[in-house]
Amino acid sequence: KISIFWFRRDLRLEDNTGLYYALEQEKNVLPLFIFDKNILDKLEDKEDARLTFIHDQVSKISRQLQDLGTGILVKYGTPIDIYRELMDTYAIENIYTNRDYEPYAKERDLAIKELAKSKGIQFLDFKDQVIFEKDEILNGSGEYYKVFTPYSKVWLEKFHKANIQLLSLEDKGKNFFETQPFDMPTLEEMGFVASNIKIPKLEINEPLIKKYDQVRNFPAIHGTSRLGIHLRFGTISIRKLAIEAASLNDTYLNELIWREFYMMILYHNPQVVDKAFKPQYDHIPWRNSEEDFQKWCDGKTGYPIVDAGMRELNTTGFMHNRVRMIVASFLTKHLLIDWRWGEAYFAQKLLDFELSSNNGGWQWAAGTGTDAQPYFRVFNPESQTEKFDKELKYIKKWVPEFGTPEYPKPMVDHKFARERAIETYKKALNS
Ligand code: FAD
Repeated sequence: KISIFWFRRDLRLEDNTGLYYALEQEKNVLPLFIFDKNILDKLEDKEDARLTFIHDQVSKISRQLQDLGTGILVKYGTPIDIYRELMDTYAIENIYTNRDYEPYAKERDLAIKELAKSKGIQFLDFKDQVIFEKDEILNGSGEYYKVFTPYSKVWLEKFHKANIQLLSLEDKGKNFFETQPFDMPTLEEMGFVASNIKIPKLEINEPLIKKYDQVRNFPAIHGTSRLGIHLRFGTISIRKLAIEAASLNDTYLNELIWREFYMMILYHNPQVVDKAFKPQYDHIPWRNSEEDFQKWCDGKTGYPIVDAGMRELNTTGFMHNRVRMIVASFLTKHLLIDWRWGEAYFAQKLLDFELSSNNGGWQWAAGTGTDAQPYFRVFNPESQTEKFDKELKYIKKWVPEFGTPEYPKPMVDHKFARERAIETYKKALNS
């Protein structure tokens, strides 16, 4: 008999909660990864860099497991079909995995759990991708927080008391199922090709994190950790990072709390995926001009800080947080385009795309979310540039034609757009 450990967004061996417990409680643990057809079918770009990254990481895990005398079974298909097949092939005792809080993942896991139950197999899931999940941070009335600041206070108190220990595999390797390595489907076999986009290094850059609060707002400098993609796919352990962050920089730790706050909000409010967190904001009559949207996507709005951000995103799969706020504000307020359009575009392009943070970030900018930017506050691209890219270094890097006749005129006047946005929001909210 074997037990399965199912890798998903936790692509590492060290300090992996579900894997640790599988090896502690079972013998013959067989690791599994599924390239989920339901997800892959939705990827528009056949050179999707995130898929290349996942493929590389699973190959790396495969090599590490080979050294331990075992392998990882890698399948391509829908999880339910793959599990049916596995249950026909192997005598399975238990299935271990780490919890995932997104609506699709919750449904998927429920279906596998039911299937397992019908065969007398236990489905055991563990907290791994966050420090605190679901209902672990509650207010005095036992409800989850809808506002960040009080949430973060309780989070911090609990974190400092928690005395978190990292989980090491140590001598547990012997509890893996002994096998020769398995073949793995290639990207081409799944209809994709490898991307050349560079993935940020997996490193905790201590000197950078130490001064994070002073440098994080300036897009021209390398002042943020670029660990987003590693947090997204679990190539870094959040426990390890949070423990280090706590000793290095409070502002950085605070950003990790934002990540968990949005995950918790999505867990309790799966409807935010396509609805405003504050329902009254679903009445805004968006202008939704396709032509305007295209200019924004292409970085041709005539607002250089906006254009620089969009071009950075299109070229590298990354955009600095300060600029994400500026371009999101511009799309929703200056152009009155539905935040869901921008959210979907980011979802396609960002290497660090995380449903909960992306949705949270967009709803914040559009003013529809939890701790929203009030609708009457509209980012002024010029004064943002003055504050955060005074020497125009970032702009010049991404918009070299800025200041020449080739560069387009602003597609809409700031003052006009600002007043139009405030009027539109005000009307919609009072109706
Ligand atoms: P650092 O500044 O080094 O921060 C470290 C980590 O903390 C990040 O990797 C991330 O996991 C977390 N973090 C930082 N800021 C935030 C935040 N505001 N909200 C939630 N988590 C945060 N972040 C994503 O991870 N995925 C997204 O899809 C995403 N979409 C966004 C969309 C918009 C419109 C906005 C305004 C923000 C979005 N963010 C998103 C948040 C933030 O911009 C990125 O996390 C950050 O820029 C990633 O760069 P970094 O890894 O260098 O982060």
